[in-house]
Amino acid sequence: MHNPDLPNIVLLGTGGTIAATADSATILADYSVTQGVDSLLTAVPEIASLANIRCRQVFNVESHAITNSMLLKLAARVNKELADSAVDGVVVTHGTDTLEETAYFLNLTVKSSKPVVIVGAMRPGSALSADGPLNLYNAVLLAGRPQAAGHGVLVMLNDKVGAARFISKASTSQVDAFRSYDQGHIGQVHNGRVHIFQTPAPLHTTGTDFNVAGVKSLPWVDIIYDHQNAGAHLYEASIHAGARGIVIAATGNGSLSPQVRKGIKMAARGKVLCVRSSRVGSGVVSSSASDSKLGLISSNSLNPQKARILLMLALGNTSDREKIQSYFDRC
Ligand code: ASP
Repeated sequence: MHNPDLPNIVLLGTGGTIAATADSATILADYSVTQGVDSLLTAVPEIASLANIRCRQVFNVESHAITNSMLLKLAARVNKELADSAVDGVVVTHGTDTLEETAYFLNLTVKSSKPVVIVGAMRPGSALSADGPLNLYNAVLLAGRPQAAGHGVLVMLNDKVGAARFISKASTSQVDAFRSYDQGHIGQVHNGRVHIFQTPAPLHTTGTDFNVAGVKSLPWVDIIYDHQNAGAHLYEASIHAGARGIVIAATGNGSLSPQVRKGIKMAARGKVLCVRSSRVGSGVVSSSASDSKLGLISSNSLNPQKARILLMLALGNTSDREKIQSYFDRC
């Protein structure tokens, strides 16, 4: 029953471990997605006291199966829901493996400052001490609070509130899997109270140049990992396959191995833009004097998977290297 004193939250399901079950309560790895978003909600009846909820299943997969067209579909759905003046916020349930990619995509393409909270779980719903139910409760609580607005897309797991721009999965299996190494979490939810400590400075949501309304596909961008004794052949393959951009998960502070420089020159000849990111996982990649000579963009503090998201959106607007560098500097 609709309660006019409670916020109106739309709960969008996309799958992931939060929607998965295994054959026994002690199995934490071999599970599959079996639950729809409405069953996740039914399993936490306490949520009814937080908000009026409307559920919608956008798709129901593990997050490593998410494609660009699914991202576009999700962004369109979130924007449509938030354009409704009766809706106060959106919660998206999602697998944790690529959660940071979807969160950053929405952070750049949602055209509203109402709260958007992405939530997942590290343990399937069938597990002893499953973390999904409390994460979901906290996500709905957060999405219904005015303090959650205006910080871009938020990520809620393990009682901590992360900013989509900064947060990244940093453990394959532990419940405390999400970190923002350089910036920290932006808040906490504990005992039914929301605490926000800081707000992210980079541009997000209504402040970006990105609008995917009506967009049917995104430019193809590959990520190529650099390492000792790397070859140039992966660059050749990527260019040949029609990539418009390549993100290099380079070593250290964006340092490039010798053959990779050859790959970058090939890419430049084929008008394929390359971004220097780092495989390290924290810190910034400083722009270097050779970037303009090689036609490179430096990724700022975006890890390779988030740099891929930004490069796809940037290439949808322009092919100008300096303009794209300005997106990396400000988003
Ligand atoms: N395999 C899961 C996924 O969909 C992992 C998780 O959700 O924790 O990303």
